[in-house]
Amino acid sequence: MSKRDYYEVLGVGREAGEQDIKGAYRKLALKFHPDRNPGDPGAEEKFKEASEAYSVLSDPQKRATYDRFGHSGLQSAAGGGFNPGGFQDLGDILGDFFDFGNLFGGGGGGRRRSRAQRGDDVRFDLELSFEEAVFGLGAEIQVPRLEACGRCRGTGSEPGSGPTTCPTCRGRGEVLYQQSFLSVRRTCGTCSGSGQVVNNPCSQCRGHGYQQTQRRLKVNIPAGVDDGTRVRVGSEGQPGANGGPPGDLYVFLKVKEHPFFDRREQDLHCTIPLNVAQAALGCEIDVPTLEGSHRLKIPEGTQNGSQFRLRNKGVAAVNGSGRGDLYVHIQVKIPTRLTREQRKLFDQLRETLPTDNAPSEKSLFEKVKDYLV
Ligand SMILES: [Zn+2]
Ligand SMILES: [Zn+2]
Repeated sequence: MSKRDYYEVLGVGREAGEQDIKGAYRKLALKFHPDRNPGDPGAEEKFKEASEAYSVLSDPQKRATYDRFGHSGLQSAAGGGFNPGGFQDLGDILGDFFDFGNLFGGGGGGRRRSRAQRGDDVRFDLELSFEEAVFGLGAEIQVPRLEACGRCRGTGSEPGSGPTTCPTCRGRGEVLYQQSFLSVRRTCGTCSGSGQVVNNPCSQCRGHGYQQTQRRLKVNIPAGVDDGTRVRVGSEGQPGANGGPPGDLYVFLKVKEHPFFDRREQDLHCTIPLNVAQAALGCEIDVPTLEGSHRLKIPEGTQNGSQFRLRNKGVAAVNGSGRGDLYVHIQVKIPTRLTREQRKLFDQLRETLPTDNAPSEKSLFEKVKDYLV
């Protein structure tokens, strides 16, 4: 089927100005719009034809191309297929009187009521002490968030008066824009998508339907949480719109450091110093744990960097499956200031100790390194 000349379609001359083209198209569009010609495929065909012609002739660049090369020039420029563009102001010309979505295969559903929308999730940052994270707690928090206004029950209208259908979108909650041959739905700016407008705003919330409040909540923080853990509290986020469910509250945990416990997942690490005599002769020391001190036997000849594992003295897993361990890292302290008496004793010791300053075999070094990890 050969295409009709665009000027012919719009019924304007080749010298027609922008306003002439716009006026001609408006007349045709209103005449042949399918909403006005239900069940008439001929009218719809004419409407599409006019829209296509207008999209080209209203665009100076496309019009120039068309003037020089005709339909084929536009097709090759668009890389095959018709892609007119320049439809942004179609809505401006015709207003919101027609549902463009049905015409170019974009919508199809026709009128849609504004949809129920889930409320936004809310983030709340909570700082915990090391012990609180390990043992859990019931935290009292105050979360700033929106709540439905008590006076108007979220409608935004003064009690006794109801909202009315939005004139811009006629209750659809969205407006359709035509871009090229794609229809784009946008939330209606007049009613923010609710499809209704408030004529007599509620005196308490000034028509918003919501109020900023400080919601007091008790949140159960389970034992074993760690820095960066998120605790989800269902349905305590922002309220939904149009009867939609509320969002969720996410409590983001920040855990303070402990003065000597270093936590790695469920395990705890701490460093205990020993003096040379304790390390050489062995001893018993008190090691701090989460539940008070624990007596630990250090065997004689304990090296610097050795570690001892206390099973199940770490942190309980959040899901309750088991507990981590506590690793005690030994740091042998060499005395730096000796009394005269101590110096004499070390001197005597030196006479009796073997002296071997040859470099250690590498394998031995690797073994010591393993201890340090
Ligand atoms: Zn209100
Ligand atoms: Zn609206």
